[in-house]
Amino acid sequence: MTSQDELNSTLLPAETEVALERAVDSAHRHENLFSERAANIKQSAVRDVFDISIRPGLVSLAGGSPYLKSLPMQDLGKTAERIIAEHGLEALQYGGGQGMEQLRRQICDVMAAEGITDADPADIVVTTGSQSAQDVAAKVFCDPGDVILCEDPTYVGALNTFEAYQVDVQAIEMDEQGLVPERLEQRIADLLAEGRRIKLLYTIPSFNNPSGITLAADRRQRIVDICRAHNILILEDNPYGLLRFDGHPLPPMRAENPDDVIYLGSFSKIFAPGVRLGWALVPRHLHRRFYLACEAVVLCPSPLTQMLVSAYLSDYDWQGHLANTRSLYSERCSTMLKGLAAHLPEGVSWTTPDGGFFVWVTLPEGVDTYPLLYQAIDAGVVFIPGAAFTPSDEPSNKLRLAFSAVSPEDIEEGIRRLAPILRTAIEE
Ligand code: PMP
Repeated sequence: MTSQDELNSTLLPAETEVALERAVDSAHRHENLFSERAANIKQSAVRDVFDISIRPGLVSLAGGSPYLKSLPMQDLGKTAERIIAEHGLEALQYGGGQGMEQLRRQICDVMAAEGITDADPADIVVTTGSQSAQDVAAKVFCDPGDVILCEDPTYVGALNTFEAYQVDVQAIEMDEQGLVPERLEQRIADLLAEGRRIKLLYTIPSFNNPSGITLAADRRQRIVDICRAHNILILEDNPYGLLRFDGHPLPPMRAENPDDVIYLGSFSKIFAPGVRLGWALVPRHLHRRFYLACEAVVLCPSPLTQMLVSAYLSDYDWQGHLANTRSLYSERCSTMLKGLAAHLPEGVSWTTPDGGFFVWVTLPEGVDTYPLLYQAIDAGVVFIPGAAFTPSDEPSNKLRLAFSAVSPEDIEEGIRRLAPILRTAIEE
């Protein structure tokens, strides 16, 4: 159905022509009101595929959704009811722009679990997910034409946000240990030689979305030192840090570098994305502007969901729940890796993540994975083509598979459906 058909179907026949004429006329009149920035606002490929992937019968290896079925829903319902019944005047009222102090103190405990032990609640801003913190960072630090460095590949939502601020996003290829310090240094030197202004390094050091790659512990400080030497701030996005399958989380870059790193955390992957809560731990000297910019966008994060998350952290065994979901993700990841090894043809390779939600698949050079998506939809499976995760418009021979919200049986079935499509694409 075209958008015109869709519009027609919502109107009574007699009204259709008039309404269409009016819509076309308004579109013409308003076209040149858009800001220059608006031309850079793109539709996210992930959101597009997300809409398709809820069709019945389709196996979606596309969406990076957390597994929520093991949350104690009945009890959470009672907690939400109690919050409104007993604290409704606070929960349903406007709150402070920085977020509730009790929750900010609890966020310090969450960060301590991954190795940040010196965080002060005063340096935290509670945000509407980590997504809004990325937007604020770009807004506060970048003018059109400024450079943000990032990993290649990187999170599509961050790319869309940065590009909307007319930032030049420069992606630096990783190896299996993450960003390569020497490549980062070289790219910085090249850009500075061209007279460019580099403001931020945006990095997802643990279980990168989409590649699943983790930046090696021994590279982390080196990368901070390189950035510090060139006065580049680090925007460390760590929503998956606590989702390491085995052993302790790797210390974030922020742990030893409180003055050079803005650290972004999120409740989306360790609790539930529907609460739309994350946070930024911001160096003291940058905090005020960052916080004011957050406040200007949302006035305040939702008091109701802040109180729900706060109760979840204090009254529930959130660490136990996390341990259980971590082992579920680990099992699903192994199922996916086994399925790939069993079914994918020679010439295809993939990453082996130690945590997070994603496996990144590489096809031989020259194969474009974008058109394969349409064949995959016909075969009953969806993935995200790799081109979504880089700022360049070049076709990509990669694709992202998510195992987090799919049962092991569906993972196996999805790979069985995908394999012949990849085989044919390689043979062509
Ligand atoms: N950063 C990364 C790397 C992500 O993968 C995501 C969500 N998929 C986000 C940020 C956005 O998270 P939030 O729900 O906290 O806005």
